[in-house]
Amino acid sequence: MQGKICSKCHIEKSINLFHKNKNESDGLHHRCKQCCKEHSKIYTQKYDITHRNEKKIVSHQHRLTNRYLVFKYYGQKCAHCGIADFDCLSIDHINGGGSQHVKQINHHLYSWLIQNNYPDGFQTLCMNCQRIKVIENQEACKKQSIRHAQIRKWHRNRTKKIKLYYGGCCSICKCNDWEVLEFDHVNNNGGEFRKNNNIYNITQYLNKYKLPTLSSIGLQLLCANCNHKKEKTLKRKKIC
Ligand SMILES: [Zn+2]
Ligand SMILES: [Zn+2]
Ligand SMILES: [Zn+2]
Repeated sequence: MQGKICSKCHIEKSINLFHKNKNESDGLHHRCKQCCKEHSKIYTQKYDITHRNEKKIVSHQHRLTNRYLVFKYYGQKCAHCGIADFDCLSIDHINGGGSQHVKQINHHLYSWLIQNNYPDGFQTLCMNCQRIKVIENQEACKKQSIRHAQIRKWHRNRTKKIKLYYGGCCSICKCNDWEVLEFDHVNNNGGEFRKNNNIYNITQYLNKYKLPTLSSIGLQLLCANCNHKKEKTLKRKKIC
């Protein structure tokens, strides 16, 4: 057999196991195909690791620019309450169906809006007003059966009671609309906490353990706006 020794694995292999390379005197690459493949794999991995942070920053900046453009068009304050804190604002699907639509477009709502030339049917709402709207829509839903409505009402009352028991106001801005209050994990370990305690519903958990003090389990009440703002600040810190 006509062969060649690979410079990497030092095994003599048939010449058809080497890529062609005009720069080499024999017209073949000095590494065998297999070694070339492994080399490029390692190279790509190294490249990805060193450029991961760069990529993250670029995509974060891209998203920020899109976010800015979208709110510049749809309004830089909440259409209901007028709050203008950029970190609390979100885009609302005026006629509902938002979560389904956002899923369809892979959660890239800002770039979708830009690509579609800022269509009608969207408005700026703060997270608190967004939350209230969802609850009002659920209540107004005529499709639900009486039984379903009763269950929903029962859950709502239980949640209300529990939130009021814990002070009924946001730890940061002191807003006291119980409907917009959320249980927040002070140390941002919500995922871990839910996994370790097998929690599906936090109010159910609090009830089960006879309403422990929130600080003892690392929780606090935050309104949707303050919670969103906290998340955004955290994300920025992680990236910079
Ligand atoms: Zn080789
Ligand atoms: Zn609002
Ligand atoms: Zn708040």
